[in-house]
Amino acid sequence: MTVHFPFQNSYAALPDSFFARVAPTPVAAPRLIKLNRPLALQLGLDPDLLETAEGAAILAGKSVPDGADPIAMAYAGHQFGHFVPQLGDGRAILLGEVIDRDGVRRDIQLKGSGPTPFSRRGDGRAALGPVLREYIVSEAMFALGIPTTRSLAAVVTGEHVIREVALPGAVLTRVASSHIRVGTFQFFAARRDTDAVRALADHVIARHYPALREVERRYHALLAAVVERQANLIARWLLVGFIHGVMNTDNSAISGETIDYGPCAFMDAYNPSQVFSSIDEMGRYAYANQPRIALWNLTRLAECLLPLFSDEQEKAIAEAQDILGAFTETFSTAYQAGLRRKVGLFTERDGDEALIQDLLDAMAKNQADFTLTFRKLGDAAVDDSADARAQFMEPAAFDEWAGCWRARLALESQGAAERRAAMNAVNPIFIPRNHRVEAVIQAAVNDDYAPFEELVQVLAKPFDDQPDYAAYADPPLPDQRVLQTFCGT
Ligand code: AMP
Ligand code: MG
Ligand code: MG
Repeated sequence: MTVHFPFQNSYAALPDSFFARVAPTPVAAPRLIKLNRPLALQLGLDPDLLETAEGAAILAGKSVPDGADPIAMAYAGHQFGHFVPQLGDGRAILLGEVIDRDGVRRDIQLKGSGPTPFSRRGDGRAALGPVLREYIVSEAMFALGIPTTRSLAAVVTGEHVIREVALPGAVLTRVASSHIRVGTFQFFAARRDTDAVRALADHVIARHYPALREVERRYHALLAAVVERQANLIARWLLVGFIHGVMNTDNSAISGETIDYGPCAFMDAYNPSQVFSSIDEMGRYAYANQPRIALWNLTRLAECLLPLFSDEQEKAIAEAQDILGAFTETFSTAYQAGLRRKVGLFTERDGDEALIQDLLDAMAKNQADFTLTFRKLGDAAVDDSADARAQFMEPAAFDEWAGCWRARLALESQGAAERRAAMNAVNPIFIPRNHRVEAVIQAAVNDDYAPFEELVQVLAKPFDDQPDYAAYADPPLPDQRVLQTFCGT
C-alpha cells in the first residue's frame, strides 16, 4: 500500500504570477514525531499509512506524493506597518488541496521544507521549537472552537538549522481552508495588476464565500464578508486571552482563520497592554490593540479592491469606508455577547457592559489570572466558592464586584447548575500556558516527547475538568513566568 492523497490543485491553476513551482528539498533522516490521526481521517487520509516510513518521507518533504503540484505562493505585506512588496512563502510549500469529509477544500502545506524563490536571505527551514509551538497552539485553538489552521503532523528532519545556535530542524504539515492572505491581494494591487486582483477575488469567492457568486456587487460583498469574519475572529481571541503577536497583513487570512503562529501566547494575568513578542517593541500588537489592527489590515484589503468597486475612485473609497464601518459594531457585538456568556448572563440588560468592565478593571488592577478567574466564576455562581476571589491580589476587590454581579444574576430565571454548565462551556480551564509550552519544547529538544504528547492531549479538551491533569490549569509560579516569546523562525 502506498500513501494516497487525492490532491486537487486549484490554486496552481491560477496564473503563473500567483506562485512559483518548487519542490521541497529532501532532508537527511525524517522521523515522524506526531501525527494528528483524527485530522488525517477528517481529510480522508489513512493515518496508518502516514505513520510508515513512506508517510514520514512525504511529511518531511523528502518525497513528493503523486498528484501534488508543489508551489510557493506569492504575497506581499505590511510588516509592523511597513509595506514590503514581495514576501511570499519563503519556507513553506503547498502540496495541493484535498476535499475533506465535510466537502471543504483544505490546503496541505509543508512549513520548513526548504528554500523557495521567495526565501530572500532565509534558509527555508524551521526549528523544532516553533514547529511544536505552532502544533500545540493551533490545535488548542481548534479545541477552543476558534477558527484556525490545523496541524496534521510534525517531523524532525535529522538536520540542524542554524539560528543563534544549532537547533534540531523540523517540518510542520499545516492544513488551512486556504493560505490566501490580505498580503496576497496586496502583492497584485501593488503591481497595479487589476486583472490578477479580480482573478484572486473570484477564486476567494468561489472557495470561501460561494453564496456571493450570485450577488450583484460581489466584490463589495466579499469585503463585507471578510470584515465580518475577522471581527468575529478577533473577538474570539480576546475572549480567551490570546495574543497573536505578529498581526502583519501577510499573517491575516482571508478565510477568517487564525494563521501563522509565531511568538503568539495566551496571557496569564489579565493585562490589556500585554505583549510577549520580543520583536514587538512598540506594543503595536498588544492584546487590546488587536481589534484596531485587524481593522487597519482590512483597510489595506479594501484599498486593493477599490479598482473592482468602481472606476470612480471617490465613489469606490466611500463605498469601502461604508463597509469597513461595520467592523467596530460587529466586533463589539461579538465581544460583548461573549463576555456576557463568560460571566453567566443569559439575557442582556442595560448596565451589563459596565458591570463586566468593572470586573475586567479589577482583574487588571489585581493581576488576576484571566482564564482561572472566569472558570472559577462558574463555581461562584453556584455557592460561595472562594476560588475566583483567590485570583485577586486584594480579594476584597472581587467581593465588591461579586455583590453587584449576584444582584444581576438574581434577575434571571435560570438556576445555578444550569448557569455553571453554560459558563464552563465557554470558559476553558486549560489553555496552552507559555511556561508549559516552553517546558515541552525544552524536553523535545532533548528527545523526550512525552511532555508534548501529554500537553496536546490535555488541551484537546479545554473545557473538561481533568482531575488527573489539574496542574496544567495552574498559572506559572513567579520563577516559571515566560516574559518574552520569540519568532525563532
Ligand atoms: P513570518 O514572520 O513567519 O510570518 O514570515 C515573514 C516572511 O519571512 C514570510 O515571507 C516567510 O516566508 C519568510 N520567512 C520566515 N522565516 C524564513 C526562513 N527561515 N527562510 C525563508 N523565509 C522565511
Ligand atoms: Mg498556471
Ligand atoms: Mg507569515
